[in-house]
Formats: sequence, C-alpha cells, structure tokens
Amino acid sequence: MQLPENVLTCIRLLEENGHRAHVVGGCVRDFCLGKEPHDFDMTTDATPDEMREVFRGYRTVDTGIKHGTLTVLAGGEPLEITTWRVDGEYADHRHPQNVVFTKSLTEDLKRRDFTVNAMCYSPSEGLIDEFGGREDLAAGIIRAVGEPERRFEEDALRILRALRFASVLGFSVEKATADALREKKQLLGSVSAERIFSEWKKLLCGNSASRILSEFADVIEVFLPEADAARFPSLPENGDFLLRSLYLFAGVERAPERYLAACDRLRTDNETKRRGIGVLSHLTDSLSLSKTEILHILFEIEKDDTELLLDLRAALGKGKGEKEILQTVLAERIPYRIADLAVGGKDLTQRGIRGKEIGETLKDLLFAVMDGEVPNEKEKLLAGIARK
Ligand code: ATP
Ligand code: MG
Repeated sequence: MQLPENVLTCIRLLEENGHRAHVVGGCVRDFCLGKEPHDFDMTTDATPDEMREVFRGYRTVDTGIKHGTLTVLAGGEPLEITTWRVDGEYADHRHPQNVVFTKSLTEDLKRRDFTVNAMCYSPSEGLIDEFGGREDLAAGIIRAVGEPERRFEEDALRILRALRFASVLGFSVEKATADALREKKQLLGSVSAERIFSEWKKLLCGNSASRILSEFADVIEVFLPEADAARFPSLPENGDFLLRSLYLFAGVERAPERYLAACDRLRTDNETKRRGIGVLSHLTDSLSLSKTEILHILFEIEKDDTELLLDLRAALGKGKGEKEILQTVLAERIPYRIADLAVGGKDLTQRGIRGKEIGETLKDLLFAVMDGEVPNEKEKLLAGIARK
C-alpha cells in the first residue's frame, strides 16, 4: 500500500515516540479495492496530549481534540489523527455523549460502522482486519460490525451510510444488516437534515443507485416521501445529482412545490433548490420542443438549466433531438437575452421611448428576433419600432 509522504512522516514520528499508528477506514477500503483513496485518516494509541508533544514541531489544528482528533499539517493535505477510542453512551441516536480513549486497537475498530470500513494498515504492521473486512470486500457485502440493530440504534446515520456504500461500491447489504436497518428506519427522523442530505447525494449518484433505491424504497420514503418511488428502478444512466433528483419528481403532481418542500426539509443548498425549481417549472408534457420554444426557455432560465431540462426530458423518453437544436441555437448565437440584442436602451431613449416602456419594447424586440420575425440588426429592429 503506497502511502503519501506526509502520512508516512506522521506514522514514523509516532512510532519513534513509542506509539502505534495506522491509516484506517475509507482509505484502506479504497486501497483494497484498487481505487485511489481521496483522503487518509489515521488512528493512534497516543492521547491528544501525547500527539501534541510528538507534533510540536508542526502546525496543528485542535478543533476535534475533544473527540481525540488532532489535525496535523505536515505538507500535503491536512491529516486527521484520532486517538483510539470507544464511543460512550449514545444520546438521540446520533451523538455519543462522551468518548473514552482506549488502549485497545480492537475496541477502536469495533466502534466503526461496517466491516469494510474497520480495517487499518501501517507499513510496519501490515493490514489489520479483525472483522472479515477483506472477505466482505471480495464478496461485495456491506455488513455492520457487531450487532446491527444496536449499531443502527446508536447512530441512525449508519442506516443511510449502509445504503450509500452499497450504491457507490455496487455492493449488497448483508441480510441481518438489511433487516436491522429496515427495522430501525424511523430513527432517521432523529438525524440532522444536513447529514441526511450529504449521504443522500452520494447514494443517489452511485452506480448501483437504482438497485439500492428499489430494494430499500421503504427506507428512502422515511426522509424523502415526496419522491416518486415508481421511478427508482429506472434512474438515468448519467449520474448527475440534480438530473437524478429531478427525475424522481418529474411525474408527481405539483412537482415544483413538492420539490421545494423536500429541499427545505433536507436543508439543501440554494443552488439545488433554485435550479431544480426552475427546471421542474418548465417541464411540460409536450413530446418535442421547437427551436422557438427552446429559445423562450433559454430566455427564462440559465443555459445550464436549459440543458438540464433537455437531459431530463430525454431521460423521460421525450424530446428526441432537442439537445442538437440547443447546440445549433447556441452555435449560431441566436439572441435569447436582452443584452444580445443589436439595440439597447439608449437607442430607444433617443427615439423618445421612456421609463417602463424601454424594457417592454426591448423584450418585444427580443421575442420578435427569437421567433424569427426580424433579424437581429440594428436598422431593422429600429425600423420595427418606428412602425409601431
Ligand atoms: P468516504 O469515502 O466517504 O470518505 P469513509 O469510509 O472514509 O468514506 P468517513 O465518513 O470519511 O467515511 O469516515 C471515516 C471512517 O470513520 C469510516 O471508514 C468508519 O471507519 C468511521 N465512521 C465514519 N462514520 C461513522 C459512523 N457514523 N459510525 C461508525 N463509524 C463511522
Ligand atoms: Mg473518508
């Protein structure tokens, strides 16, 4: 396992000071799967105070220190190193009330969510896999560490994490784990909206999202009752989050309102909300849109959103060839914004047009150009006004 230089430095420093240190969790899992890990987390028997001592020559950040995490800046990406710990009693199915540091690596690995996430590695000790993580990786299985019901009760976010990993990795959820997460699905109600949304995004974009959503539709319904579960089995190939989200709302009654309600409840970012509502509000039953209709949509929503709308229509089996029309319209630089017109407000004031009428006239002219009635040429446009 090839570790980055800063990770090796931190492991070496800890070991030189008599401690044990490993990379752990997602990075080990990804390595075993032959994937490039996107970050490295570390675990050590050194207490936070001992870590501070070991890393006194480095810049460190203390924000997670209460939970035993010190962030070390040793070149490369900031590295989070966490003292081996056992989670204390859980309050509200989400937060351990306190954490207790431990001198047992096994205890630290045991608190982790799934067997595939409970392995650690160091160059001096090799791979440590006490719960059959490698075997489950090879078989493509997400399995809770320990007794699944208790683990989901402790922290209900794990319910969604199980589905997320299965969707992203193309795995199945082991039977007892699947039964337990179904049994405990209502506990998702106690998980914060932000955490749900962040897992949901990854889950929905996974390669196996269609399969997992179909299999666990009853669980999804707990936090996203507005979505149309009948569409779960046929998500678009394209794994874009917004496209897939909107696909789940495309057929429901009062789609924009329901989408907005879901966004508000899940506290999504504004862009997810704004773009989604824009697209859903312009989604019609029409089988195909003309060039003029596409121009009108371009006038009302952003270019990217128009593209998204056409992708959504394609996913719904409509609008064959509409993407090509859009490309042509853009390549030909046909105006669809007031600013694209060959005349501006000043030209109109010079001709005695005032106030509100300026904007209205410009819009009329733009629509005349979009509809192919007048070419976008100054003389012709102004002649058009004179004739009014
Ligand atoms: P990703 O690729 O999304 O980063 P990851 O497995 O690294 O996946 P993180 O959320 O970064 O996930 O968590 C790092 C590790 O911490 C996990 O691999 C797991 O061992 C442990 N962990 C994270 N969240 C939980 C949780 N809710 N319950 C138990 N263990 C957890
Ligand atoms: Mg991670």
